[in-house]
Amino acid sequence: MLLREAVNKKIEYKAQIPGLLVSCVLCLLSCVFVGCATVSAPKAAELPIQKFYLNNNLYYPLTEICRHFKIDWDYDSFARQISMQKADTEVKLLIDSSVALVNGVPLDIREPVRVHNGLTVVPEKFRELVIDRFYCRIIPQASSEYAPGYAIRKVIVDAGHGGYDPGAIGRTGLREKDVNLDIARRLAHLLEAKGIDVSMTRSVDKFITLEERANIANRARADFFISIHSNSARSARLNGFEVYYITDKVNDYSRALDTAGNADLHIEPASFYNTSLNLKATLWDIIYTQSRSRSIILAQSICQAANRNMGLRILGVKGAPFYVLKGTRIPAVLVEVGFVSHPSEERYLRSGFYRQQLAEAICEGILNYSRQYELAGLH
Ligand SMILES: [Zn+2]
Repeated sequence: MLLREAVNKKIEYKAQIPGLLVSCVLCLLSCVFVGCATVSAPKAAELPIQKFYLNNNLYYPLTEICRHFKIDWDYDSFARQISMQKADTEVKLLIDSSVALVNGVPLDIREPVRVHNGLTVVPEKFRELVIDRFYCRIIPQASSEYAPGYAIRKVIVDAGHGGYDPGAIGRTGLREKDVNLDIARRLAHLLEAKGIDVSMTRSVDKFITLEERANIANRARADFFISIHSNSARSARLNGFEVYYITDKVNDYSRALDTAGNADLHIEPASFYNTSLNLKATLWDIIYTQSRSRSIILAQSICQAANRNMGLRILGVKGAPFYVLKGTRIPAVLVEVGFVSHPSEERYLRSGFYRQQLAEAICEGILNYSRQYELAGLH
């Protein structure tokens, strides 16, 4: 749109001051412009990323920036710190801070990094001051093995626990496995109604090992694996909605354990994790990195929908090497819909209406992710 306006302006200008010389100058300028566009980084107007206003300032979603420029990144929700890494440049950002550390050197990015509806956003200037200067000159040629994203056509919906494994149990006896299954079924129906192919790891109350769940996901060649769980904490006061994605960071794992106080069965001991690290092959690394960035974007999309539709308290998007996620080679997220250990949340989670709302929010998050890529023509 912006490009078309610029072209129109150029044509008007040409019409007002006709002459061979002007035409030649314009032609020369066009050549220079086109020449630049092919060798330098894309300009702001050319990015297929939607900017939006926050406190009267323009912001970009950070995940979109990183996806577009193929920058590997990680978000530590406990330290509220973002690390971006590509080639030999590491950038660190702190939520609510307008200082970026570029290879340890502080840089003023004018406006603070924010979290808006569960999404990390960076000020418009950040692209020019950090991305263009430190990352664009090292952008490799577009490679087909690292597709930026895609529309979702097939999803595995995994209801956590089941059979003799009840999962967490609320103070009034609500069993996690029942809540998970009901929400998973509702989600499956909603997704199918939108034309998405759905497979469920279980559609009845039966026990399935975590390994089997991961195998089902890998065999089905689905686009995403969505695991539904309900949370539990020692403190009855902890409530909220959170989404996990797979990560290979040991620190995230130990922090997640320490902070969440989560006694859930899907957290595997660190020994499994260490063994799996040794088994990594180069190909697996590529698949893994790609899956992780897609998982983070989907996790954020689901949190946004839950916040927007239900006003839920969003505990955030977190990384954890859950076995059920770790074993899947496709992008995967684990949604913790609420705490059965919290009295009000347990009461809500008993309600079919509330479960339907949760299923609808998760469905909307998935559809928004999918639509985003369809609109951008990136699938
Ligand atoms: Zn669980």
